[in-house]
Amino acid sequence: MTVIETDYLVVGAGATGMAFTDSLIAESDADVVMVDRRHRPGGHWNDAYPFVRLHQPSAFYGVNSCVLGTDAIDEVGPNAGFYHRATAAEICAYFSRVLEEHLLPSGRVCSFAMSDYAGDGAGGHRLVSRLTGDTTTVRVRRRLVDATYQETGIPSTHVPPFDIDPGARLIPVNGLVDLTEPASGYTIIGGGKTAMDACTWLLDSGVPADAIRWIRPRDAWLLDRAYSQPLDALPTLLEGVSLNLASAAEAHDVDDLFRRLEDCGQLLRLDPAVEPTMYRCATVSRPELESLRTIENVVRRGRVVCLGVDEIVMEEGSIPTDVNQVHVDCSASGLRIGPGRPIFEPDRITLQQVRTCQPTFNAALVAFVEATVADDAARNRLCPPNPYPTAATDWIRATATSQRAETMWMADPDVMAWLQRSRLNAARGIGDHLDDPRMQSALARFGTNAATSVPNLERLLAAPA
Ligand SMILES: Cc1cc2nc3c(=O)[nH]c(=O)nc-3n(C[C@H](O)[C@H](O)[C@H](O)COP(=O)(O)OP(=O)(O)OC[C@H]3O[C@@H](n4cnc5c(N)ncnc54)[C@H](O)[C@@H]3O)c2cc1C
Repeated sequence: MTVIETDYLVVGAGATGMAFTDSLIAESDADVVMVDRRHRPGGHWNDAYPFVRLHQPSAFYGVNSCVLGTDAIDEVGPNAGFYHRATAAEICAYFSRVLEEHLLPSGRVCSFAMSDYAGDGAGGHRLVSRLTGDTTTVRVRRRLVDATYQETGIPSTHVPPFDIDPGARLIPVNGLVDLTEPASGYTIIGGGKTAMDACTWLLDSGVPADAIRWIRPRDAWLLDRAYSQPLDALPTLLEGVSLNLASAAEAHDVDDLFRRLEDCGQLLRLDPAVEPTMYRCATVSRPELESLRTIENVVRRGRVVCLGVDEIVMEEGSIPTDVNQVHVDCSASGLRIGPGRPIFEPDRITLQQVRTCQPTFNAALVAFVEATVADDAARNRLCPPNPYPTAATDWIRATATSQRAETMWMADPDVMAWLQRSRLNAARGIGDHLDDPRMQSALARFGTNAATSVPNLERLLAAPA
C-alpha cells in the first residue's frame, strides 16, 4: 500500500473539482491530489448525449486560467448572434487539456483517474484503483474537498424510475443517434432540459412535430439565452439582472412576482396556457422556444409509472402506444437537489452553489476564498450554500441567497478585484460599458432595487402559500 501526503484531496474531477483546483493553485502555494472514478476529467460530460451543448456561453464556463473555445459569437445556425456554446466533446477535450497542460505541469497537482474514493480510515483517506485494486492512502494536511455533493444525474447512467415491460421499446436519449430505422413516432418522457434538447434535435433533424408526443409531467420556467450573454453583450445581461431585482422588489405576492418576471422577459414558459411549477435554470433561445411550441401532442397526466408494450400508465391515466413507437427516456434528474450544508467545515470543503446555477464560477470562488480569507466564519459568510432550485418558488429562495452573497462581495475589495479578473464571472467588465445607455439604465435600476429586493423576497418566502 502506498501512502502519500497532500494539502487538499479533491474528490471528483468534474467541472467543479477542476475549477476549484485551478483556482486554488493560482491563489495559493498548496498542493492537491485529485481522484475520479472516470478515466479523464470532465465528469458527466464524458457520458452526455451526443448533441448536447452548454446551455450558456462557453465564455464563462470551465476553469479560470484557460479560455474554453475562442469567445467568438456564432454567425450561423440556431445560436447565431450569441456567444459559442461548447459541445460535450469540446468540453471533455478542454478539461483534459487543462489537466495535462496546466495542472499537472504545475508540479503541485497529482491525479488519480479510474480510482474510487473509498472513505476515511485510521491512516488517512483511501483511493482504490479500479484497474489494479491497489489502495493508496492519502494523508491530508488541510482539507478534503467534496466535489461530488452535487454530482450530476445523467440519462446514460441512470435507471428509469418506472416499470418497463419486456418488449417495450425504450431508449436513453443518447440512443437517438444510433437509430437505424424510422419509427412510427417518438414519445419523449420528461419535462426538463434534456427532453427539450431531444425534441429540438428531432425537429432540427426533420422529424415532423406531429410525430412527436411529449409526456411532460411538469412545465418549467425557462431562462432566455439572450440575457446570459457576457463580454460585448454585457449591458443586456445586466439589464436582465436589474429587471429580476425590480420584479423581486415590487412584487405584492408570489403570483404577482412570476407575472412580473414573465412580463419583463426574465422567465419564459413553453405553453402560454399552463402555469409552470418547476424551475431548474434551464435556458433556451426564443427560436428554440417557438420550435418546441410546434409540438402539440403534450401529455400531462403525471409521471410515467409503467411503460407497457401497448400502453403507457401514468399517475393520472394511461395512453395507448405500440412497438413501432420509440420511447425516449429523458427523466434523469440532471442537477442534484439536496439540502445545503456549510461549505467550509473544519476538515472539509463541500462544493455547492452560491451564485445561483453557476457551478464552475462558484467552485473557483470557493477556492479563492479558501486561499485568501482568514477564518471559516468569514468564509461561510461570503459563501452561503444555495441548493439548486427545483420547484418554481425556489426561484425566490435561490435569488435571495445569491443577492445576499453578492452584497457581501461588494463590501470586500479583494473579492471585488477577483470578480473583475475571473473569466468565470459572467458579469465581469462592467466598467468597460459605462458609456452605454443600456448599462446606465441597468445600473440605475439595480441601485433603486438592490436594497429592497431581498427583504421583499424574504417576506414572500415567509407568507403562507
Ligand atoms: C445536459 C446538461 C447541460 C448543462 N449545461 C450547463 C451549462 O450550460 N452551464 C452550467 O453552468 N452548468 C451546466 N450543467 C450543470 C452541470 O452539471 C455542471 O456544469 C457541472 O458539469 C457539474 O459538475 P460537477 O463537478 O458538480 O459534477 P459531475 O460532472 O457529476 O462530476 C462529479 C465527478 O465525481 C466523480 N465521483 C463521484 N463519486 C466518486 C467517488 N466516490 N470516487 C471517485 N470519483 C467520484 C464522478 O465520477 C464525476 O466525474 C449542465 C448539466 C447537464 C446535465
